Amino acid sequence: MRIDLHAHSNASDGTDSPAELIAAAVAAGLDVVALTDHDTVAGHEEAAAALRALPAGTRLTLVPGAELSCRVEGISMHLLAYLFDPTEPAFAAERELVRTDRFRRGRAVVDKCRALGAPITWEQVQRIAGGGSVGRPHIASALVEAGVVATVSDAFTAEWLANGGRADVPKHETDPFEAVRLVRAAGGVPVFAHPGAVKRGRIVSEQVITELAAAGLGGLEVDHVDHDPATRARLDRLATGLGLFRTGSSDYHGTRKTVALGAFTTEPAAYQALLDQATGAKPITS
Ligand code: AMP
Ligand code: FE
Ligand code: FE
Ligand code: ZN
Repeated sequence: MRIDLHAHSNASDGTDSPAELIAAAVAAGLDVVALTDHDTVAGHEEAAAALRALPAGTRLTLVPGAELSCRVEGISMHLLAYLFDPTEPAFAAERELVRTDRFRRGRAVVDKCRALGAPITWEQVQRIAGGGSVGRPHIASALVEAGVVATVSDAFTAEWLANGGRADVPKHETDPFEAVRLVRAAGGVPVFAHPGAVKRGRIVSEQVITELAAAGLGGLEVDHVDHDPATRARLDRLATGLGLFRTGSSDYHGTRKTVALGAFTTEPAAYQALLDQATGAKPITS
């Protein structure tokens, strides 16, 4: 079984459409793929339709999810949410609040970039985002188009878009304890995304992760491209100690990042633990 529980489409900052993501999952030989766009479920319907249209004999399971923007003790963090009821009003309202604030913040980041001499425009960023949940990676792509930086990842430095960088502007981010509560109340399963990704900025303490586990966190994303072997070993021990399941996932973003779909995968037992905890929605099978 090849199980990848973290992938983005152009409903947020990935470059594949949801249908293209399903095709890419088949091409990568995956058995299970989760669609986890930032703060939105807008890609679910297209992905499910593409899955149902696969030729007979092609077996793939789609796990509908999202990746929620959170902040605790001044540190930005991401919470993956799986198999929640997308119509549950309180959680849907919170996702909408974050998405709406992404527009305000996106404009403000573009203004800062322009003030710093980068010839990009909000119209350009909106074209690149194509109606998806707007994020810094879209602005990074605009900076690449304008020749300001060579790659998307080169835009995530203190000079431009990194947390606390010259052109960074914070967006509304949910308290993760509240997010865990909202996800569980919608029947979903929350998993802390890339908890040891130090290259993105400060990381959340083990004390906070322990408190989140007590508050209903289900799992930790241990195997991730942004974790070195020592970090994976530490998170593995932490998850075991806290009774959390461990996932491994690519965090695929199409051509906006270099990681390939299926580059990291989740053990079947951990996937089963996730399924056992979910009551808000069911995986979709081809
Ligand atoms: P935002 O959601 O708008 O705050 O932007 C965060 C997104 O930027 C993350 O989901 C990643 O896709 C991307 N990102 C964050 N840090 C980096 C980095 N160092 N290199 C490349 N992409 C990054
Ligand atoms: Fe992203
Ligand atoms: Fe993330
Ligand atoms: Zn992600």
